Amino acid sequence: MDTPHRPPRRPHAWLPLLLLSQGLVAWAWWRWGWPLGLPLMFATHAVCWWGVLAPNSALYGPVLSRLPTGAREVWLTIDDGPSGDTAAILDLLDAHGAKATFFLVGDRAQARPDLVREIARRGHGIGNHSRTHPQAWFWALGPRRMRAEVEGCQRQLAAITGATPRWFRAVVGHANPFVSAPLRDEGLARVAWGARGFDAVDVDVARVLGKIERGLAPGAIVLLHEGAAHGRNVEMVAKLLQRLDALGYRTVLPRP
Ligand SMILES: [Zn+2]
Repeated sequence: MDTPHRPPRRPHAWLPLLLLSQGLVAWAWWRWGWPLGLPLMFATHAVCWWGVLAPNSALYGPVLSRLPTGAREVWLTIDDGPSGDTAAILDLLDAHGAKATFFLVGDRAQARPDLVREIARRGHGIGNHSRTHPQAWFWALGPRRMRAEVEGCQRQLAAITGATPRWFRAVVGHANPFVSAPLRDEGLARVAWGARGFDAVDVDVARVLGKIERGLAPGAIVLLHEGAAHGRNVEMVAKLLQRLDALGYRTVLPRP
């Protein structure tokens, strides 16, 4: 498999596009008035918001949405740990001979370094999911705070495991114009997903599984969570692993 690991190379590529589009809006407004200028302005702003809100949007930098394979393989990614669920999830993965990448929150990792080392010891991947998980404001972080979130988590995880993460999962899947520069500097590639069941908020195990299953395909990246308030993430992982076995899917970790 080719490496799908692509950190941003030109983190400010959006800037000339933005200037060009707003110049176009101003010119259209001047030339034809608001009936054309106003809708054009809304359209260009909608594109900017799509780049922020759509997890698979590459407007502000490259993002990996699936693995380049035709085989019945999926990449399990588990966000928001370490948590009280981590140990049970590790045992489930072992029982199924499965591997996953845990996208960890730096401050939570620092509070439970034993769990982080156990994830690594059992051969799973560890990715960067920000230092503090600012889920309400991640999309709005300025360049300095965005860099502190990315680099802070990177330092915390490297100090615990001795290895530097290579993959980044944006908080709530959002992006903005300032996420790519620290990712480039840290050699991190942003990872989205193609299969998810809203397992962080939905308590209905069967419904969550059904939604994930609709996204399953060769190379699918599966988004899972641990430590949700509803307390059923372990059960969801257990059911998903059974279902993957039944469907003939094996789990893989991409080589960066
Ligand atoms: Zn998260």
